[in-house]
Amino acid sequence: MPPTLDPDLRRALAERVRYCHEMGIYDFYRRGPCVSESHTVLSTGAELVDPSPTQEELRQEMAAKKSAVLTQPAVRNVFRVITPNSEEAVTDPLAALNLIREDLGPDCTRCKLHKQGRKQIVFGVGNPRADLMFVGEGPGADEDLQGEPFVGRAGQLLNNMIKAMGIRREDVYIANIVKCRPPGSRTPERDECETCSPFLMRQIAVIKPKVVVALGAVAAKNLLAMNAPMSELRGRFYDFIPSGFRSSDPSWQGTKLAVTYHPAFLLRDPRQKGEAWKDLQMVMRYLGLEPPKKPAE
Ligand code: SF4
Repeated sequence: MPPTLDPDLRRALAERVRYCHEMGIYDFYRRGPCVSESHTVLSTGAELVDPSPTQEELRQEMAAKKSAVLTQPAVRNVFRVITPNSEEAVTDPLAALNLIREDLGPDCTRCKLHKQGRKQIVFGVGNPRADLMFVGEGPGADEDLQGEPFVGRAGQLLNNMIKAMGIRREDVYIANIVKCRPPGSRTPERDECETCSPFLMRQIAVIKPKVVVALGAVAAKNLLAMNAPMSELRGRFYDFIPSGFRSSDPSWQGTKLAVTYHPAFLLRDPRQKGEAWKDLQMVMRYLGLEPPKKPAE
């Protein structure tokens, strides 16, 4: 009976191969035949023949996998890194945001959300030179109708939160991880976030805020590329540099990022408003904003 590979060893080998692929290593070579490795002579005199694929089979398999990997989005990323974004030559942030919006196109079809009932793209709104930026997960029904983020009930609560910080909605910039409404206001899926968020990264790089506040777990996990519960994500600042960002501006090399609850969650569980207020107070201290005596309702 042919020997089978120990399951733990098989898993370890598969993991090693996967790791090598991630590092860009696709070609593997086996040493020449070696009695102690490829043939084991049992005490009975029977030969235990190595059932592994031949070198030629391995070479063909690796070549097929290599070509499959190379046709995937990594190729696009290479070009994205070496091709400057259109807004990078523009110093006026409003003009630069307009270029990003143009680049997105009037009817973006980059991810499947374009054909799942969205009425319009919700790009973002606010002060293009804002010190403070809020990022949610995606537009809801009201936002989809009006073309502006956070205009429904959750938006009203966000407005109150901003007001409680002693500033106005017009002073900040507000955007989402995805710019089209997911059907039924479901959570945006990973591929949708990955496709759309580069435009958000470019918006952040143009606005150069001092603080980004991620509203809710979806925004936080996508911005930070971390998978942790809100209890672990909140209560601290992260150093955040938008992915793909290349700066010639020594005055802005990234921003602070804080995490708090999404206003829609706070509407469902108002008991957490006090916790959200603590997060905002942390941001206010950093920005030197005077905390009002009482948070607005
Ligand atoms: S969510 Fe973003 S990437 Fe997807 S279709 Fe809308 S604008 Fe395009």
